Amino acid sequence: ASRFQVVELGPPIEVFQLNKLCLEDTFPKKINLGVGAYRDENGKPWVLPVVRKMEKQMAEDQTLLHEYLPVLGMENFSAASVSMLLGEGNPAIAEGRAFGVQTLSGTGSLRVGAEFLNKHLKYTTFYYSNPTWENHHLVFMNAGFTQPRTYRYWDANTRAINFAGLIEDLKAAPENSVIILHACAHNPTGIDPTHEQWEKIADVMEERKLFPFFDSAYQGFASGDLDQDAWAVRYFVKRGFELVCAQSYAKNFGLYNERVGNLTLVVSDSSCVARIKSQLTWVVRGMYSNPPAHGARVVANVLANKQLFDEWRDNIKTMSSRVMQMREALRAELIKLGTPGNWDHIVKQIGLFSYTGLTATQAEYLVSKHHVYLLRSGRINICGINPSNVHYLAAAIHDTVT
Ligand code: PLP
Repeated sequence: ASRFQVVELGPPIEVFQLNKLCLEDTFPKKINLGVGAYRDENGKPWVLPVVRKMEKQMAEDQTLLHEYLPVLGMENFSAASVSMLLGEGNPAIAEGRAFGVQTLSGTGSLRVGAEFLNKHLKYTTFYYSNPTWENHHLVFMNAGFTQPRTYRYWDANTRAINFAGLIEDLKAAPENSVIILHACAHNPTGIDPTHEQWEKIADVMEERKLFPFFDSAYQGFASGDLDQDAWAVRYFVKRGFELVCAQSYAKNFGLYNERVGNLTLVVSDSSCVARIKSQLTWVVRGMYSNPPAHGARVVANVLANKQLFDEWRDNIKTMSSRVMQMREALRAELIKLGTPGNWDHIVKQIGLFSYTGLTATQAEYLVSKHHVYLLRSGRINICGINPSNVHYLAAAIHDTVT
């Protein structure tokens, strides 16, 4: 008998299981609205033209080696990432109080940031929105946090933020709780706080001495504008908060499997920076030793070159505009069919996702009856919609809710 007989089968990860089921489905009109990746108007994955261009250039470059990167990654990549997040002229950068370290995409940033906060600041309580990206809980628990809590976020009746509930929950949070905040394009609801609401959130967090951990996985995807999408983070920095922010280039560069990310830290005293970096070095050393280079090179080269940067911004516009058009198209089709209910939220929500309000039973029905694959929470990835399938999708939703 094997010593591994003791291993029990773990539960499936819903989003990947759904993806597999969809890939195996031979029905020609199937629609994949599950995993959060961009698809073009033909339903195909899209390598950004600026990325292809840079990769071609890099393939010819004999000076690029496969030597180890430093433990904290490429400095020019991190510096460019911090600038992109905080804005080039941000005083925190000039004052040497803001810096970044290269990490393994957004997830790796969250993990390194959380482990550092737990080990060195002794933080144990973390809050995430209800609902949130399904991995926040596990990543923080694995990083050593022991007290998971949620703050209210989504109000199913109004299909908007339960702002009073959110504030009440933050007010009740113990000092030094780490509050995970989606920088923009909240996953899964697609609803972000307004500027005024962010100001109130900052007021409470300051008063209650809570620690902001921003998760920025969609910069550029919410509004199509990188600066606008970084508003909340920049506002907190301007208010004088110390904070960390996990940045992912999976979606806005389409570099999903290259695992390109950055953890930005902003502190109030630049004299702490060298010590923080030295300890982050040990966190990373014991976890994966050092990050991969390819994707970070692509990003760093694009961000460093004005012309390529502009091309990238156009690529982001292409993606974000297509998402917005498909929101409009789906709502228009549902209205045309006279589907019961109000579908305005589809166009009010932003980013890749729409929280449709469909129930788990309805979602399962869409999968089994119509080959339309979506999460049980009713979250759909708008990128799965295109001009050729929006009519089929609307008809399927219509059938499901009537
Ligand atoms: N945070 C949020 C809110 C996300 O939606 C995602 C990806 O779906 C991530 C973090 C991390 O993604 P990755 O590790 O691929 O960068």
